[in-house]
Amino acid sequence: MESGPARELKITPIRNGTVIDHIPDGLALEVLRIIGGSGLHRNSTVSIAMHVRSAKQEWKDILKVENVEISDRAANAIALLAPSATISIIRDFAVREKHPVTLPDRIDGILRCPNLECITNLTEPVETSFEVVHHRPIRLRCRYCDEPVTDFLPQLP
Ligand code: ZN
Repeated sequence: MESGPARELKITPIRNGTVIDHIPDGLALEVLRIIGGSGLHRNSTVSIAMHVRSAKQEWKDILKVENVEISDRAANAIALLAPSATISIIRDFAVREKHPVTLPDRIDGILRCPNLECITNLTEPVETSFEVVHHRPIRLRCRYCDEPVTDFLPQLP
């Protein structure tokens, strides 16, 4: 690998879809898992760029998903893992919306409750729901069984 100062990043533009930029170095696949969990389009082309230089000369990951405009709940879950990430919605090759992710007061439907006895882990079709009880560092609590969650990766789908 050459270590020249100017390695240009080239990712094919997408016509329609979502670009998630400024993902912390190494977390692109976890972010992809979140999007996949909320329904990846069968015809989606997914581009992942890992360990690229940002304008601020820091390392980051970038994810592009074609034909998907990610849901608010997926964006909420991404905020758990990648609070610095930005989400851009692309339509007809143009950026229609761009905003940083924000952590909401509640995370519904994405994470699993680590408490195996929790009603959300039993046969009942009860959607998970967590209250954000602390922001930095992020701490969640299951709204059904009060189980605390501080490590999110194992709880992703
Ligand atoms: Zn629970």
